[in-house]
Amino acid sequence: MTEKKKKIVKTIKVDVDKCNGCRACEVICSAFHAAPKYSGNNPARSRIRVIREPLKDIYVPVYAGEYAPAECMGRDKYVIDGKEYEECAFCRASCPSRSEFKEPDSGLPLKCDMCEGEEEPLCVKWCLVDALTYEEREEEVEEQEEKEDLETGLESLVNKYGMDKLMDTVARMSVSKKG
Ligand code: SF4
Ligand code: SF4
Repeated sequence: MTEKKKKIVKTIKVDVDKCNGCRACEVICSAFHAAPKYSGNNPARSRIRVIREPLKDIYVPVYAGEYAPAECMGRDKYVIDGKEYEECAFCRASCPSRSEFKEPDSGLPLKCDMCEGEEEPLCVKWCLVDALTYEEREEEVEEQEEKEDLETGLESLVNKYGMDKLMDTVARMSVSKKG
């Protein structure tokens, strides 16, 4: 029997009109996740990336979401307030067709963890122009559903990268969390 339990859903609202492309969010995210913590920063390791096209005044902060084993068959372009956004501009997936959201050394997918353990996501704290706003709400979910999601995600990573590489990365991440 599946039981209902409460879950906190964490959301970051992105206001692309306020973002000025300063990339402070990328810097703090990569520093927080460095091993040991804050030992360095490299935006390529950040779990938020800012898609920047200064000549068109386009700055889109995007959070790393789920790993996708295959790229999309078709892609969309958006025109919002007269600005045309590139294909993949709003997509959060770590997928084969883009370099974003991949750990540069291992190529393993990166995913935003909402700065687990911190009171508030650090990218939100460091965004001085309030382009990022943190919100929380409570939802009821089936407990079993969550476990299945986790197992499916892990299985696809093991299939793609192999168990050894995955275990190495988990070990490195746990050192970083303790540090
Ligand atoms: S810190 Fe804020 S303004 Fe700067 S790039 Fe990130 S979202 Fe944009
Ligand atoms: S919430 Fe934390 S982990 Fe997620 S992108 Fe922002 S700084 Fe990185």
